Amino acid sequence: MMENKYTMRQIPSIEKLLAKLILQPEIQLFSRKLVVATLRRVVDVARQKLKNNEPVEITEDSLLRQTKNNLLVLGKPSLRKVINGTGIVLHTNLGRAPLGERAMRMVNEVMGGYSTLEYNVDIGERGSRYDHVVDKICALTGAEDAIVVNNNAAAVLLVLSVLAKDREVIVSRGQLVEIGGSFRVPDVLRQSGAILKEVGTTNKTHLRDYEEAINEQTGLILKVHTSNYRVVGFTAQPEEGELIQLAHRHGLPVVDDLGSGTLQNVDQDSWHEPTVSECLAAGLDIVTFSGDKLLGAGQGGIIAGKKIYIEQLKKHPLLRAIRIDKLSLAALEGTIIDYLIADAYQVVPVQQMLNRKIEELQEQAEQLANMLRPLTTEGWQIKVVPLTSQAGGGTLPEVKFSSVGVSLASSKASASVIEKKLRNHSIPIIVRIQEEKILVDIRCLTVEDMNSIQEACMKIGKEVHP
Ligand SMILES: *Cc1c(COP(=O)(O)O)cnc(C)c1O
Repeated sequence: MMENKYTMRQIPSIEKLLAKLILQPEIQLFSRKLVVATLRRVVDVARQKLKNNEPVEITEDSLLRQTKNNLLVLGKPSLRKVINGTGIVLHTNLGRAPLGERAMRMVNEVMGGYSTLEYNVDIGERGSRYDHVVDKICALTGAEDAIVVNNNAAAVLLVLSVLAKDREVIVSRGQLVEIGGSFRVPDVLRQSGAILKEVGTTNKTHLRDYEEAINEQTGLILKVHTSNYRVVGFTAQPEEGELIQLAHRHGLPVVDDLGSGTLQNVDQDSWHEPTVSECLAAGLDIVTFSGDKLLGAGQGGIIAGKKIYIEQLKKHPLLRAIRIDKLSLAALEGTIIDYLIADAYQVVPVQQMLNRKIEELQEQAEQLANMLRPLTTEGWQIKVVPLTSQAGGGTLPEVKFSSVGVSLASSKASASVIEKKLRNHSIPIIVRIQEEKILVDIRCLTVEDMNSIQEACMKIGKEVHP
């Protein structure tokens, strides 16, 4: 049993605590009602701990301090900017794709006022939110028609709910994947009301496996991009053209969840990632992909393909529940315009960062190393080192992007102490640790970010200096 030196009777009264609290200027910004509620919660927690014989401090001071902290946290943003020193371009935990200039301008324009979201100014009547992007997506991908929803998970759910409810969906065992953030193909299938019909084995699925599985119950054939892993070695999947022919002979659509779905080449070395246009040109009936992966916009799910299927999706009530909001839509349209009228490798940040030249990264890393050079006199080691970055976000798992970074180590503090201090900087700086060294990958850093890193490191240098 835990000994506790306090008793219930020592808990000061709410009135007494409140009288002290409201004298503090920072507290006066909050309503009295909120201050009282927060105070009560703090006192209740303390009382409960006492009851359970858990260690707790019940002084007037500690209760006031806790209440004040809780209130101040409420007034501070939790969702805020960080600096991505991991080199992972589409870091799902760090918000995936940063937006380009045009997308930001367009979001900015619609966010503070009214917009044409569902209004057709030509005829002065109600319009459709989807009309803003459909023609542009079709122009870029060669699709007959398209629709956009909240995210790609919702896109897959909608397609299956509409085209395969109560019917069998044939999926290769090697493609029954889980994508980070709890998107599991079998679960989404079940949720849509479709019946999973697994074919083949983990490593090999043949055309005849699909053929044997087709019956009058079949709704469609689903392909899933194994975004975040690869089955390598003794493997087989039928040639895509043959699979499409087989499905069409039986009057069935082939749906491909592309995941990242790139609009232009992101090829590295011997790796070729099929583009959305290539997939549609091969005869796929429907493809779905994310707005905030390789495309480089905000959260969104794009469904593109044959008109006869997309028309059905547009009529389904689920569409209303998973509709894209105006800010994401503005970001998506802005990014798509970049692909249509500009060089996306230059202006869409995701594409730009993935395609940065090694010489440029090297030069920028040397610049950062020079900015940190003063620390060497205080026992720090600063080196420019070769690294490999990843695309991230479950995209291009096999592609290694050669990168450059700066490695940091100090004789005064361990790598994990420095990492924690960087993470707790006013703008958190997220880095990797490897072999007791901090690694800052240059790929995703702006000049402004480098200034922040310099500022943070100089501050840490002073803190750990004896
Ligand atoms: C990322 C991914 C999803 C989920 O997309 P969100 O836009 O994050 O909802 C679904 N399927 C595949 C194959 C993916 O790679």
